[in-house]
Amino acid sequence: MPTLKYRRVLLKLSGEALAGETKTGIAPETVAAICGEIGMVLDMGVAMAIVIGGGNIFRGLSASTKGMERSSADYMGMLATVLNALAVQDMLEKQGHPTRVLSAITMQEVCEPFVRRRALRHLEKGRVVICAAGTGNPYFTTDTTAALRGMELKCEAIIKATKVDGIYDRDPATHSDAVKFDSISYDDTLFRRLGVMDATAFALVRDNNMPIIVCRMFGGDIRRAVLGEKVGTVVHDR
Ligand code: UDP
Repeated sequence: MPTLKYRRVLLKLSGEALAGETKTGIAPETVAAICGEIGMVLDMGVAMAIVIGGGNIFRGLSASTKGMERSSADYMGMLATVLNALAVQDMLEKQGHPTRVLSAITMQEVCEPFVRRRALRHLEKGRVVICAAGTGNPYFTTDTTAALRGMELKCEAIIKATKVDGIYDRDPATHSDAVKFDSISYDDTLFRRLGVMDATAFALVRDNNMPIIVCRMFGGDIRRAVLGEKVGTVVHDR
């Protein structure tokens, strides 16, 4: 077995990670590909909790700007994350990895309720814990959920897997001269307004000194991040 830098991690995937070309809905082939990446990490003996967003299906904030009551819209967004969690559960299990979906909104016919001690036990038993329904509260995001669950479940790092291979000083999609950081401090991230996570989530990780690694979701980057290889951008206190 290779030497792991992080033995227990929280993987944050945006809802769009499960979508295909159209960036909406759930594309089974995309889910299979991302689960393949996750499987490589699990095969190294890493304990993993996963938080998945819901933006591929529904975003509360955007619906509320179009006139919907914010809390109702946010509950819909949280339910969207449950759909994504069930899709990832199905695919991971097809690929041979035991999982449990734990939801912050009780839905006993489809998944377990989120109970921290139970989640810890699942991790100890080698099951992937997929945290669904965000924090269970409107006005929050799944980034905040990732920060919260990452700390509650004693993860050593949050890996935010995205389409971009790290944090840049400006948007690399629109600036060809954008420069990528290998590592950056929490303070610098805030000072430069780099928007790695929303402010609530960022305050939580910073106050509790939880490292965040931003890397690509494909190409074995998540695996390399867990091994402590130079990949993506690491946000930490120094
Ligand atoms: N949401 C919420 N409370 C939470 C987590 C999520 O109300 O604790 C809702 C919110 O409406 C959000 C939606 O769920 O827009 C989907 O989550 P998010 O936007 O974080 O997903 P992502 O952008 O990562 O796909």
